[in-house]
Amino acid sequence: MSFSPIPGVGDRESDRQEMEMKVTPSIRKRCENCKMIRRKGVLRIICKTNPRHKMRQG
Ligand SMILES: [Zn+2]
Repeated sequence: MSFSPIPGVGDRESDRQEMEMKVTPSIRKRCENCKMIRRKGVLRIICKTNPRHKMRQG
């Protein structure tokens, strides 16, 4: 009889990557808080309330 230790619960949380930015040929605002900015001719969307809205025109 052995006591097997259970690996840490909630390890899957580390899989999330919120820094990732979507690259799409055509971008548009997805909510009122989305902001469109232009840098070096590249159009980007940044969003305060929904970081997932962030994207970049490729
Ligand atoms: Zn948004």
